[in-house]
Amino acid sequence: MNLPLNNEAFSVRQPLGELGDDPALYKTLLESTLAIPWKIDWASMRFAYIGPQIEPLLGWAQDSWVSVEDWTSRIHPDDRDYVVNFCVSQSLAGIDHEADYRALTKDKGYVWIRDVVHVVRNEAGEVESLIGFMFDISERKRIEHELLKMQKKLEALSFEDGLTGSANRRLFDQRLAAEWKSARAAQEPLSMVLLDIDHFKQYNDFYGHVQGDECLMKVAAALGLAGSRLRDLVARYGGEEFALLLPDTDEAEALAIAEKCREAVEALQIPHARSGCGAVVTVSVGVGTVIPPDDGQVRHFCEAVDKRLYAAKQAGRNRVVSTFSA
Ligand code: GH3
Ligand code: MG
Ligand code: MG
Repeated sequence: MNLPLNNEAFSVRQPLGELGDDPALYKTLLESTLAIPWKIDWASMRFAYIGPQIEPLLGWAQDSWVSVEDWTSRIHPDDRDYVVNFCVSQSLAGIDHEADYRALTKDKGYVWIRDVVHVVRNEAGEVESLIGFMFDISERKRIEHELLKMQKKLEALSFEDGLTGSANRRLFDQRLAAEWKSARAAQEPLSMVLLDIDHFKQYNDFYGHVQGDECLMKVAAALGLAGSRLRDLVARYGGEEFALLLPDTDEAEALAIAEKCREAVEALQIPHARSGCGAVVTVSVGVGTVIPPDDGQVRHFCEAVDKRLYAAKQAGRNRVVSTFSA
């Protein structure tokens, strides 16, 4: 900011360590800083002063800051109530304070401001005026925002399977634990579906790992469409295993979803010349449903579902095993 320096203000030499009482000196110092000084007279609620730096920052002319309403009306509507209430209550209590808010600019944008306020009281202890500095903290806020965005992205990535883009095992285990608790509290059924690609080792051996990876991606996408409710979760459970978590879903509904998944994979018609159970890639599926008992353990539930998946393999693969088939 290019502010004219008043040389006269510095012409009277003071002993080192003292600035003296020349108001022009103080005015020059105040108006040479990036922080914008201001003063509000408490009784009239009018600006006694605001630094000229306000105009280059917000676009509003220095002399347009007359009453406290000029300040409140130039706060972003989403920040206004909180900031005004906070500043008024702190001022009434005589407490110095600071507030961050978005100040509106004349060209209809906004700038993040940190307002640091000192409450000045008279000898009787009554509030006389407020003086403060406004700091432009836009850059800090921008960096904060970027960091937050990055943090969210990292968080999302840490719950995502790198190959298929499905939820990973970590997210599945977390959600399973949470849904287990909630199903136990509500005494609602919780269902889980485990799917394992049939003869996938032979698929890899015959078609190569790259095509194996492509196959996993296609299967994941097909399963993603099968679990469609908001709380349903499809995850990559292990190498060529996938799992569906189906909260508030009874046995019959879970079986229907499991069957839909099995059909969806078969319908992809991915050739598998080395499968022992057909000409295309298929999955074997285990399904389980539980209303978690007070002394029940989630681990035992998973083991029971896994046993059904194993039973589906034993029974010839490309099939679903649930309580109905047990
Ligand atoms: P089953 O029908 O009994 O399930 O037989 P399977 O061959 O599918 O089972 P097995 O556990 O013997 O082999 C699983 C194979 O899955 C072995 C491994 O090479 C493959 N696999 C696991 N993860 C990946 C992966 O990320 N990419 C690829 N391409 N293959 C994978
Ligand atoms: Mg397996
Ligand atoms: Mg397998």
